[in-house]
Amino acid sequence: MDPKELAQQVIDGNRRALARAITLVESARADHREQAIILMDALKASNRVALRVGLSGTPGVGKSTFIETFGMMLIREGLKVAVLAVDPSSSRSGGSILGDKTRMELLSREPHAFIRPSPSQLELGGVARRTREAVSLCEAAGYDIILIETVGVGQSETVVSQMSDLFLLLLAPAGGDELQGVKRGIMEIADMILVNKADGDLKAAANRTCADYAGALRLIRKRSYDPEGYPKAMTVSALQDNGLTEAWTDMQTLIDWRRAHGHFDARRARQAEYWFAQEIRFGLLGQLDREPLKSMIAQLAGQVASGDITPSHAAHDVLTALREG
Ligand code: GDP
Repeated sequence: MDPKELAQQVIDGNRRALARAITLVESARADHREQAIILMDALKASNRVALRVGLSGTPGVGKSTFIETFGMMLIREGLKVAVLAVDPSSSRSGGSILGDKTRMELLSREPHAFIRPSPSQLELGGVARRTREAVSLCEAAGYDIILIETVGVGQSETVVSQMSDLFLLLLAPAGGDELQGVKRGIMEIADMILVNKADGDLKAAANRTCADYAGALRLIRKRSYDPEGYPKAMTVSALQDNGLTEAWTDMQTLIDWRRAHGHFDARRARQAEYWFAQEIRFGLLGQLDREPLKSMIAQLAGQVASGDITPSHAAHDVLTALREG
């Protein structure tokens, strides 16, 4: 199909067109990439701006339960919800553990919800770049909130925060007083920390954990682009649907403030620059994996190993060949 026509169908809210468009942007084929670029250009016509919310947490912390309960709450408010995933494990396992419809049974049956698992068989960088385009597709399709789920294993949080307006970190109540080994870098990108499972026997521990993180957040930094009291930590129970309305209110307060002060648009502008740089990097790296450079590199690697040529001379030859196309 003509990518411009596909774009129009996406904008018109056609779910099958949206699914097809995401498949197109996920494709690694060179001709598909050309079409995807035309498709993404044509989406600009929609002028829609969704709220993009990144959500991270270790396996078992309650991400899918949270998305199910939170997503259903948003739908009851009349909003349309899309769920996407950046799954760093999918390249290894060949299957995604995130964004799986069976984990969000109610939401997956909602006509106003769209759930898409992480693209598989790609490296994290590839998954992230394609998910970013899927986010824009969902936005153009009229989804009000786009939840982008990832697991808490390093790099993936950074890339998800680069495609989110708001980044949530979901934590479980800790047994002791340790900060669960959450890395400082992740604390720094979190806009809100939600301590989940604040119910039953776990409630007291959840409150303690929340107080610990609230303290840690106060120490980390004061951001010029946030109102007083942010970033904040709060307790929720995704299972019992407790605290989610409050969390949503606080998210809206933060976003409204950022919009009013120009920080919302500024963040998106910085993200656009980041993805531009990433696309160039990945594009260049991709060229090294294609002929004729691939064979040239393999051959030179042998010569470097046997000492016939120095590593820097060999690299210089490759880069010269790359430059001369
Ligand atoms: P994910 O791996 O992060 O997606 O976690 P899941 O949503 O699959 O939840 C893992 C387990 O924690 C499941 O057994 C859930 O029922 C349970 N769980 C999730 N949210 C809560 C909660 O708010 N309270 C309690 N007590 N259990 C929860």
